[in-house]
Amino acid sequence: MNKSCLLIPAIILATATSVDAKKKKKKDEPAPVAAVQDTTKKTPPAKSIKDKVKSSKKIDGLFTLYQDTATGSLQMYIKKNQLGKEYIYQSFSMGGPTSMFLNQNMIRTTWVFDVKKVNDKLEFAQKNTNFYFDSTKAISKAANVDVSDAIFFSDKIASEDEDGYLIAVDGLFLSEKLDPVKPAPIIGLPPGMMFTLGGLNPLKSNYQGIRSFDKNTDVIVNLAYDNPMPMNQGGKDITDARYVRVKMQHTFLEVPQNNYKPRYDDPRVGYFTSEVDDMTSLAPTPYKDVIHRWNLVKKDPNAALSEPVEPIVFWIENTTPVELRPIIKEAGEKWNEAFEKAGFKNAVVMKIMPDDAKWDPADLNYNVIRWTNSAYPSYGAIGPVYTNPKTGQILGSDITVEWKSGAGVSTSDELYNSNTGAFTAMPWDNPAEAATTVPYKFSVSKNGLSHCNLANEITAQYQTGVAAIATLDGDDNYEVTGKVSDLHKQFLYYLILHEMGHTLGLNHNMKASQMLTPAQLNDKALTAKLGTQGSVMDYPSINVSLDRSKQGDYYTTKPGPYDLWAIEFGYRPFGSAAEETAGLNKILSRSNEPYLAFGNDADDMRSSGNGIDPRVMINDHSSDMATFGEEKFKLVNAMLPKLKARFATEGKSYQDLRTRYSQLVRQRADMVSALSRYVGGVYVDRSFVGQPNVTNKPYTPVPADYQKKVMSVLSQYVFAPNAFDADTELFPYLQGQRRGFGFFGSPEDVKPQNTFSNLQMTALAHLLHPTTLSRITNSGTYGNTYTVADVINDLNKAIFNADLNGNVNIYRQNLQTNYVNALSRIASATVGYDNISKAAALHNLKKVKTLLAGAASPNESTRAHRTSLNFIIDKALSVK
Ligand SMILES: [Zn+2]
Repeated sequence: MNKSCLLIPAIILATATSVDAKKKKKKDEPAPVAAVQDTTKKTPPAKSIKDKVKSSKKIDGLFTLYQDTATGSLQMYIKKNQLGKEYIYQSFSMGGPTSMFLNQNMIRTTWVFDVKKVNDKLEFAQKNTNFYFDSTKAISKAANVDVSDAIFFSDKIASEDEDGYLIAVDGLFLSEKLDPVKPAPIIGLPPGMMFTLGGLNPLKSNYQGIRSFDKNTDVIVNLAYDNPMPMNQGGKDITDARYVRVKMQHTFLEVPQNNYKPRYDDPRVGYFTSEVDDMTSLAPTPYKDVIHRWNLVKKDPNAALSEPVEPIVFWIENTTPVELRPIIKEAGEKWNEAFEKAGFKNAVVMKIMPDDAKWDPADLNYNVIRWTNSAYPSYGAIGPVYTNPKTGQILGSDITVEWKSGAGVSTSDELYNSNTGAFTAMPWDNPAEAATTVPYKFSVSKNGLSHCNLANEITAQYQTGVAAIATLDGDDNYEVTGKVSDLHKQFLYYLILHEMGHTLGLNHNMKASQMLTPAQLNDKALTAKLGTQGSVMDYPSINVSLDRSKQGDYYTTKPGPYDLWAIEFGYRPFGSAAEETAGLNKILSRSNEPYLAFGNDADDMRSSGNGIDPRVMINDHSSDMATFGEEKFKLVNAMLPKLKARFATEGKSYQDLRTRYSQLVRQRADMVSALSRYVGGVYVDRSFVGQPNVTNKPYTPVPADYQKKVMSVLSQYVFAPNAFDADTELFPYLQGQRRGFGFFGSPEDVKPQNTFSNLQMTALAHLLHPTTLSRITNSGTYGNTYTVADVINDLNKAIFNADLNGNVNIYRQNLQTNYVNALSRIASATVGYDNISKAAALHNLKKVKTLLAGAASPNESTRAHRTSLNFIIDKALSVK
């Protein structure tokens, strides 16, 4: 808004000038010089481009820019032969509040645009690339009739010459007309809940740098946002919430002129895509989604294995810790193994940026693995790419790694020390909402930008590995000493392999950690050949063997069989279109091979009730989670008694011990989430009709025996009265370190009943979720034999039987109360829960009442607890 005030005088002036210039040209052909000398007219003379730019510095390139050396103001010269031609716009954040994802070098929006001359103006229009029209079909003549281009900028031509036009572009770049930095307010969110930016102040905004090359023009701007009365002061990275600077790069790119052939997506393999609808097709799946991939062309098209004309080159930024550089280089080069299956050798080239390099890592001509250190790391590591939205060709990429990844100690204090002791909202508290909540869509924007939080997840996993080695192996050297341990090396290797995978076009494969059995995971001869996972694109639970003599690799150290296969699908070149179709079909026909299993996180399985196939999950590992999960619980229980001796250090506070403890609690929570998904789970197979060797149906319920096995593991390690005995001795020592007057934001005392209540509720939130219960019943029609009545009956037994004739400890009192509350709510729910679930809930409530009637209550606390249970049940049963 403010910007228009600034520009009005300039626009009026420009209007007057150019209109007048045109009239003049028509009337008398003589040069404008004559007009200048015409003193009878008061209108200002038409200025030539030369005059207009005389105080400016010229920046030549794809688009020529003129920057005024005194005011900094920017003008753009657009050649006539550039009009109507398509270009790519790409934005990058170059620094700003990390809570708004405005970190350095974040790839943001991509679109295609063109510039047209309309009357005396130039119009910049974003093109709609969502549709495809087959030009051989008559209906294609109606192409895009209902699709409007978005005019994001229009301004009077300031001056022109034979070859082109000059316009002022401050209103384009020092504004939010391109990629708006300030997000739209979230409806319903109370003001001040989230940090946000004030209004853009163009007077304080300026240009930080302008680069122009043959194929791209970059304008880097410092945008100033003023907020006189901020309601949220932001984090420590916000110096003063009233005045916030955001650095952005706007890049105009030439559309690559090459023979690149788009490759179309297939649901059996996981690439990032640009979605395109085929508007001239009546097929049930009119999709022409193009996958994101690099333009690899064989130097020798006839050779089975050839180097590419242009390899994919990644530079390791010179801010990278020196001792880690060779590991990162080695990890990146491992991807060549996959490209060899696709016919390319040395497709990926890893280089280390010299310490005295003159180029800027932000330069688009370099793909860089960058290193950053944020106050509030929002991702840990990220590997985004930017593409030609029309073809999917990847044009560039950067990976950013948080320095704290691995080295820093993440905490899970929230889970461990929550004040409430229960989730804020359980599905049965608002069943209508729970049943209709659309699964959170994994954040992949149109251009394939992924917010990968792998580093945060595996940092927690890595820390558990460190603690396991320290407690169980008696290794004192657990702190980072400059020497890179095997575990640290494998962690970093994995992180880089994964993020590189994103930059090659691959999205997540959360099914890949299911490849091997728990015993095979520790068979080093096997994993050296295959890796431990089908793909590095998963978020695995760390592989730590409780039997330390049998420890295999903590993380896989190579692209797995799925990765090799996926790269072959994406990159193997073919001759004719017919050869390509046949070749790709042949590759895809292998999709049902067990090692090539694929499932991404599209319907986010992280939330309870979500996720159908339990094998598609984060923080799990192996093809037998009942066994792996049980081993992990045992590992945690074995580490706990040794934790204090290792992590309570003389001369220091107990903060390290507290942090390590909360990490182990988180390990349990991960297992609870992963295991619970098997109950009511349905295995999904995406093989196509008639694909060879397919024996599975698309949907196969998890066998009842396995569901029951998982229930018994949960029962033993989460619900049983003695499930948390190993923790007890630590409680008086779990003290955080005081800092100033900051007493942790909540009362600092340990709250074990809340910790364990949270774990138990994590299980029940999924097991008793309306979506889960409904799926159990529905899948009963096609093979599931573990009914809702059976599941709730088994929960009844797990939650009540063990202490029916004795005292009920506080963890079990909470569990029993929460469970009885849940059944009451389900039984009386008017919406959300189906009839079968409500009947089973009511039936089991009555069973609990009968059980309680016959139970002995030796101590007063147990008697009080059971009085309360009876009260809840009676109330529920009396509801009319
Ligand atoms: Zn990822």
